[in-house]
Amino acid sequence: MERRFDGSRVVVTGGARGIGACIAARFAAEGAQVAVLDRLAEAGSQCASGLGGRFHAVDLADPVAAREATEAAIEGLGGVDVLVASAGIFRLVPLLDITPEAWDEMLAVNARAVLVSMQVAARSMIAAGAGGSIITIASMAAKKGGAREGHYAASKAAVVALTRAAALEWGEHGVRVNALCPGYILTEMGAATRTEEDVRRWSSWSPLGRTGTPEDVAGVAAFLASPDGAYLTGQAINITGGMVMH
Ligand code: NDP
Repeated sequence: MERRFDGSRVVVTGGARGIGACIAARFAAEGAQVAVLDRLAEAGSQCASGLGGRFHAVDLADPVAAREATEAAIEGLGGVDVLVASAGIFRLVPLLDITPEAWDEMLAVNARAVLVSMQVAARSMIAAGAGGSIITIASMAAKKGGAREGHYAASKAAVVALTRAAALEWGEHGVRVNALCPGYILTEMGAATRTEEDVRRWSSWSPLGRTGTPEDVAGVAAFLASPDGAYLTGQAINITGGMVMH
């Protein structure tokens, strides 16, 4: 394993499990100091301490708590070079059944909390004057929609739009902002409703003939934050095994 992030300070939201945990582990393996934010206190603190990092328990749906926890994480690290906003929720609900409460919950976690953590990280990066990399985790749903995931897709389209606005506003400070748009990544998310037949069908939609892994996403996140990603900003990068090509 290369050590491209020796001395780097990385904050990962939703880092207690799944894609976020894998990304936190990848940065730590490459030398970074990592802080993890999540509402899963036990899994999160185990994950962070296994990486020699810090853990901050927080419900990111609360914007004040989200801001304070992100500020505490950055203060604990003595600054921030990379933010990865991975925390998110997924619900399968037909469009006709989406209530105002369900909409608000989805947007609070998947979009507003992303904005709050981006704002806190960017303020710190701009003040420090050394640039930085912000990586948001959107979804292929932002680009192609999805039946029974209308509010999820809308929240992820919002993440892509926020990512592009931030890239435009913060580029002059050397802050690069990019979104990852994963396809089917087999984590706990959606596991309750996922069948073996689903996995076979999803695999057949990829020219590579398989679903994705958290490691597939973590490798792209590490590339984006590394010097090899230096001329990338405002991008929404598909990690779908070729299922989405636009
Ligand atoms: P997981 O459910 O495995 O992990 C998400 C983590 O975020 C969980 O620990 C979860 O805790 C936490 N989280 C959720 N809501 C909050 C909150 N309000 N405050 C603090 N922490 C919270 O999901 P994945 O790792 O699969 O997904 C990571 C990101 O990738 C998400 O944004 C997701 O939308 C996106 N994505 C995932 C895909 C996939 O196929 N897996 C495909 C495309 C995008 P809790 O369990 O308590 O909710």
